[in-house]
Amino acid sequence: MAIEGECFCGAITYSISSPLRDARSCHCSRCRKAFSAQASAYAEVDPEAFEWKTGEDQLTVYQIQPGFGLQFCKVCGSTLCGIYDGKVHGVTLGCINGDPEVEIGRHIFVGSKAKWEVMPEGVLQYEAGVPIDT
Ligand SMILES: [Zn+2]
Ligand SMILES: [Zn+2]
Repeated sequence: MAIEGECFCGAITYSISSPLRDARSCHCSRCRKAFSAQASAYAEVDPEAFEWKTGEDQLTVYQIQPGFGLQFCKVCGSTLCGIYDGKVHGVTLGCINGDPEVEIGRHIFVGSKAKWEVMPEGVLQYEAGVPIDT
């Protein structure tokens, strides 16, 4: 069954036809700003399996590095996905409707988390990025 998502105002909707991978939450200061939250929460998606359903014309992009950016709704501001070379490679878990069928497996950049954030016990935490060999 397809995974579906939408922004806060509902103008933009999408559908994903293959399972999400490697759900993560990043606690770095950049992600706090980008997601207006204590951390980001996102998963990787096969670009070929991702399809905008409605409201694609309401999308705008914040380009972070050449080729890489975040796309969000210009009406309500929800951050929907990460793009690379114009294709969707990651989606924010908060905009998915229902069960994304993945759980956050790694909490990264916990070493720079906000002072006010309390990390839950028993989650896999990394001080910075995920080591290459994991
Ligand atoms: Zn919206
Ligand atoms: Zn981050």
